[in-house]
Amino acid sequence: MRRGRRSGCFTIVAVHSTARGPALGGCRLWHYDDSRAAVRDALRLSRAMSFKSAVAGLPLGGGKGVIMAPDPAVAGVQSVREWRTDALLDFGDTVEALGGSYVTAEDVGTSSRDMETIALSTSHVTGLSRRLGGSGDPSPWTALGVQAAIGVCCERVFATPSLESRTIAISGLGNVGGRVAAACAEAGATLLVTDIDPRKRALAESLDARWVEPDEALSAPVDVFAPCALGGLLDHESVERLGAPIVAGAANNQLAGDEIADLLAERGVLWAPDFVANAGGIINISVELEEGGYDPRRAGERVRGIASTLERIFDEADARAVSPLDAAMVLARARLAEAEAEAEAEAG
Ligand code: NAD
Repeated sequence: MRRGRRSGCFTIVAVHSTARGPALGGCRLWHYDDSRAAVRDALRLSRAMSFKSAVAGLPLGGGKGVIMAPDPAVAGVQSVREWRTDALLDFGDTVEALGGSYVTAEDVGTSSRDMETIALSTSHVTGLSRRLGGSGDPSPWTALGVQAAIGVCCERVFATPSLESRTIAISGLGNVGGRVAAACAEAGATLLVTDIDPRKRALAESLDARWVEPDEALSAPVDVFAPCALGGLLDHESVERLGAPIVAGAANNQLAGDEIADLLAERGVLWAPDFVANAGGIINISVELEEGGYDPRRAGERVRGIASTLERIFDEADARAVSPLDAAMVLARARLAEAEAEAEAEAG
C-alpha cells in the first residue's frame, strides 16, 4: 500500500498467491469509506482470483489492485481527468515495485484505455488494446465461455448441448449478456430478456426476444436462466421462485452466500459456478502472457475448455454428492496446494 506521489491517494495491491504463476487481477478504481475497507476488498478479491485461475488451470496466481478514489463530494482535487491520470500512474509505480509478482488488468472503474496509462509506469500490464499487442476487450471471450457453460448444462439436463428450441432467460444485456443473447438466438433458442436500462429494448427487438421485467426473468418456466447483470441475485427467497432447472451466466458472485449452492442442488437446479462459467475473460488475458504473445485462435480454444472444466466439476459433484461450488473449490484448493508443494520442493 503506497500513497501516490502525484495524486496523493492510496494505491493498494494484494498478492494472495504466486504458487501457480504471477498474481493476475484487475485494478479496481473505487471510493471506499476508509483505507481499511479498501485493503479488505483487495485481499478478498485477490483470494477469489487465485481460485478462479486455479480452477481454469491457468499458470497464474491471484492478485488484485485498488485505487482509492476520493469522495466525489469532497472538493479540492485537481480536475478529475488530471487526478485520474496521476492516480493511474501512481498505481503503475506500486505494480512496478512488486517486480512482476503482480500483473494488472482492467476491472470495475478502469478501462483498457486506463491500462495504456498504467503501462507508462510499469510493464506488468495486460488487457491492452489489440492495436498495442494486447488481448483487447475481454467481454466477447467471457460471453463465449458462458455459451460453453450453457451448452454443458443443457447436455447434463436435457441430454443434448444444442440450444435449438431451448428457452433461455437472460438478465442483463450489457457487454457480456448482449453477446450471450445474440449467440443463443443464433443457435436457435427462444429468448426472454430483461435489463433495468430501457435502451436495451432495441437489442431485444433485433433478436426477436421477449422483453420481460427482471422478476419475471427469474421465475419464468424456461430451460435456462442466465444471470448477466450484478451479483447477489440468488438468495433463499429468489431460489424458491426460480423457474429454470439450469442457472449459468456471467455475473460475478451470483450467490448471496455459499449455502445457496446447497439449496440450489437440493432443489434440483444445476448451477454453473460463476467463477468457472465467467472465466473466459481471464483465460483470454492469460494467452497474452504465453510464449509467442497473444493469439485469438489459441484464446478461443482455451476459452472453450471451460466446457471440460465444468464437466469435471459436475462429475465430481455427482460422485461426492456435493454442490458444484464445493466440487469447484476442492479442485481449486488441490491445484493451489500442488503448486505450493512444487514451489517448496524447488526451493529446497
Ligand atoms: P455491463 O455493465 O456491460 O452490463 C450489465 C448490464 O446489466 C447493464 O446493461 C445493466 O443495465 C444491467 N443491469 C444492472 N442491474 C440489473 C438488474 N437488477 N436487472 C437486470 N439488468 C440489470 O457489464 P458486463 O461487462 O456485461 O458484465 C456483466 C456481469 O458479468 C458483471 O457481474 C461482471 O462482473 C461479470 N463479468 C464480466 C466480465 C467481462 O469480461 N466483462 C468477466 C467476468 C465477469
